[in-house]
Amino acid sequence: MKVMVVDDEKDVELLFRQYFRKEMQQEMIEFIFSFSGEDAIQSLHQMKQPPEVMVILSDINMPGMNGIELLQQVKKDFPAIKVSMITAYSNQYYDAAMEHGADDFYTKPLDFRALKQQILKG
Ligand SMILES: [Mg+2]
Repeated sequence: MKVMVVDDEKDVELLFRQYFRKEMQQEMIEFIFSFSGEDAIQSLHQMKQPPEVMVILSDINMPGMNGIELLQQVKKDFPAIKVSMITAYSNQYYDAAMEHGADDFYTKPLDFRALKQQILKG
């Protein structure tokens, strides 16, 4: 399965590569990393349509397009893609995320074990 991770903090890519090493080696999961909402939208539009990305995990606090705006855009352009939000500020954004159709909501620091179970469950 293809999973797109969107976060302006580049360290996040390293964390995913560490925690999902086995799944990546076994080709159970393929990750695509984007460092902004604008980048993520552009990449999705450049893929063959509909994109094979099944899940987007997006940070909320990002310069430019934030995660809630990305969520709205993806749900409009690619309604089949699940979008889960990741933030360190859960109280502030939970309602907005749910209102705009977020499929899941995770808080930082990420519990990778729980996240992995959720992703592999599909
Ligand atoms: Mg951020």
